Amino acid sequence: MFDYLIIGSGLAGMAMAETLQSRGHRICVFDDSSRQASLVAAGLYNPVVLKRLNLTWEGGRLMDFSIPFYQRLQEKLGGSFDEKLPILRRFASAEEQNAWFEAADRPGLSRFLSPRLLRNDNPGLDAPFGFGEVLETGRLHTAKLLTAYRSLLHRQGALRAESFDHGSLRLYGEEVAYGDIKSRYVVFCEGFGMRANPFFRYLPLQGSKGELLTVRIPGLGEGRIIKSGVFLIPEGNDRYRVGATYGRNDFSPEPTPAAREELTRKLGHILKVDFEVENQSAGIRPTVPDRRPLAGRHPEHPRLLALNGMGSRGVLLAPYAAACLADFVESGTPLPPEIDLARYGKFYGKSPG
Ligand SMILES: Cc1cc2nc3c(=O)[nH]c(=O)nc-3n(C[C@H](O)[C@H](O)[C@H](O)COP(=O)(O)OP(=O)(O)OC[C@H]3O[C@@H](n4cnc5c(N)ncnc54)[C@H](O)[C@@H]3O)c2cc1C
Repeated sequence: MFDYLIIGSGLAGMAMAETLQSRGHRICVFDDSSRQASLVAAGLYNPVVLKRLNLTWEGGRLMDFSIPFYQRLQEKLGGSFDEKLPILRRFASAEEQNAWFEAADRPGLSRFLSPRLLRNDNPGLDAPFGFGEVLETGRLHTAKLLTAYRSLLHRQGALRAESFDHGSLRLYGEEVAYGDIKSRYVVFCEGFGMRANPFFRYLPLQGSKGELLTVRIPGLGEGRIIKSGVFLIPEGNDRYRVGATYGRNDFSPEPTPAAREELTRKLGHILKVDFEVENQSAGIRPTVPDRRPLAGRHPEHPRLLALNGMGSRGVLLAPYAAACLADFVESGTPLPPEIDLARYGKFYGKSPG
């Protein structure tokens, strides 16, 4: 008898699994490798919306909760996944500089926005108005972390590399059964795959396709993350990742020529040197109209739970939302209303009858 079956081992499923295991629960994780968002993600963590210069939902709290979570995981797994890297927001004008310094004075934001103007010292970058630096930021190497975590689950005998068939799940008062497996709960952490989940597909998961390039820029020698129209993320050996796009209509897993064109065009705006595209990757972000996670219990089947809707900020959101869900189920602590999936009624988006 397990305490929890967890469906999915992307950032959400991994955070759920680790949270529950660290609290002594018996878990079994299913993953069929059908979804790639967490594996291709750039992995940046940054609590500031750089376009509007405001904090993301619970920005400071997420940083205080989720970054130590990954540090504990590094110690547990014996790897290095969290790379501290400053994000430099490139200014396009004097007005943008002024807006930055005003924002850097605001409570909450002052912790994360440096009040110093950084002049451009890299001749390969086109940045006549300089940069503003976001503090405490970095990059989580998600593919490396998730691979290490799946290996740990495998060694524990807690990973089943197979598709979970929703139709084979049997629900009883005090438990669920799946073939010969019994468990107290199932937590669905399927990312965009939730659209095929008959229990939770009523929730408004929209999806946003994201694409990234890997480029070679010989001689640029930039070691910080540069944010202009796109992010430029150093990988070492003259290689950088460039992204990402936000597509609303195409949910195919393949990279597209249109995204490649958009990203190379935007990259061209910030570079004074040549570059060469080496690779392109794509994934579907599980996005929700109000841009908040979906955590909680099915309205009719209390043994079924969901953790989803991480959108474009899975790195910071997943550990915190997983802890909120575990507190809710185990101790009855109410979920923050902003992430409680109960904010969407059971028949949300469906016509009556
Ligand atoms: C190009 C791109 C760049 C991004 N950059 C960033 C970034 O810099 N910072 C950031 O914080 N976020 C970023 N994101 C967003 C981030 O990737 C997502 O928020 C996050 O990965 C969502 O995680 P998830 O676990 O909910 O979903 P997923 O990663 O999609 O994981 C779901 C898992 O469930 C499995 N699954 C689904 N259905 C079943 C089933 N029936 N049976 C078994 N297994 C199943 C899938 O195989 C998959 O492994 C980016 C996303 C993209 C696409």
